[in-house]
Amino acid sequence: MTRHYNFCAGPAALPTPVLERAREELLDYQGRGLSVMEMSHRSPAFVAIAEQAEADLRELLAVPENYKVLFLQGGASLQFSMVPMNLLGQGGTANFLYTGIWGKKALAEAKQMGFDVHMAGSSEPSGHAEVPTQADIALSADAAYLHYTANETIGGLEFDYIPDVGVPLVCDYSSSILAEPLDVSRFGVIYAGAQKNIGPAGLTLVLVRDDLLDRRCPRIPSLFDYQAMAEAGSMVNTPPTYAWYLAGLVFQWLKHDIGGLEAMATINARKAAKLYAAIDASGFYSNPIAPRNRSRMNVPFVLADASLDKTFLAEAEQAGLLNLAGHRSVGGMRASLYNAVPEAAVDTLIDFMSDFEQRRG
Ligand code: PMP
Repeated sequence: MTRHYNFCAGPAALPTPVLERAREELLDYQGRGLSVMEMSHRSPAFVAIAEQAEADLRELLAVPENYKVLFLQGGASLQFSMVPMNLLGQGGTANFLYTGIWGKKALAEAKQMGFDVHMAGSSEPSGHAEVPTQADIALSADAAYLHYTANETIGGLEFDYIPDVGVPLVCDYSSSILAEPLDVSRFGVIYAGAQKNIGPAGLTLVLVRDDLLDRRCPRIPSLFDYQAMAEAGSMVNTPPTYAWYLAGLVFQWLKHDIGGLEAMATINARKAAKLYAAIDASGFYSNPIAPRNRSRMNVPFVLADASLDKTFLAEAEQAGLLNLAGHRSVGGMRASLYNAVPEAAVDTLIDFMSDFEQRRG
């Protein structure tokens, strides 16, 4: 059996020890004679799995007591509409920072539901190479919250600060949650699709400050209602049980194998720094993002000669380096360096890139 190095932006690499543990427990979960997939979500065994996952996540992120942790479905994209439905019930305008494709989709979704939206800052003038500074942020007078995308997965543009504004901050952390410690208390809502740093696709994590739970719109469907989901322990209906279990294994891996988020952050910083250094040192590869906003999780780069893209990807795959193509909307290359991508993968990629440049550049 060979596990190749997987640089996919999502669904992304999972830690091998997590998959091994899942394999061990697949047919017979801890002597119960059935798989986690086959258990009732209301059974004591699954409730214990769910509670342990939440406790481990709370510990990893030091989530304050006054935040609810929700394990939902619908992907991060459903949060683009759930956030306004839950926060704009008392009126006001949804404010957005626009730093790339995902943030733009979040704004578009709120707008198409008929909510008032306002663009409070944008990286467009820099060609999405630099995020707006704190001084650039201009909220509307009736702002109910400010939404932004901590890390734009396609552009590879990451905030290097948490905005300080007088309204609740809502952040799409899909592609950088758990990459480093986070001061959750700065936010009203944090959400993330699981399929990058949390677990498999099908699960969405939402952290919501409890004083915001009474701002929902009337007639909100209960599956979209943070308050209803919080009251029901995220089990208004059948939750994605197996994805929740795997997320729990990832949290255990982060705690016990990695040693927590400080340790994870150190490894992630080293992985990203060496890949950017290799790109910058070459005359052949380039990345356009301002150094302070370069994403540690998603590193897009282009070859000096785009006619070599296909060859680069084919040779990379042959070398066991998978999923290096950029997003279909932008082309080029992208190496996603999520938590589960080992440092050895980055070293191997750098060696491959240097060898390719010498042979073909
Ligand atoms: N936000 C960000 C930052 C993302 O990277 C993605 C997916 N790549 C999404 C939102 C959408 O996530 P989903 O497919 O889970 O709806």
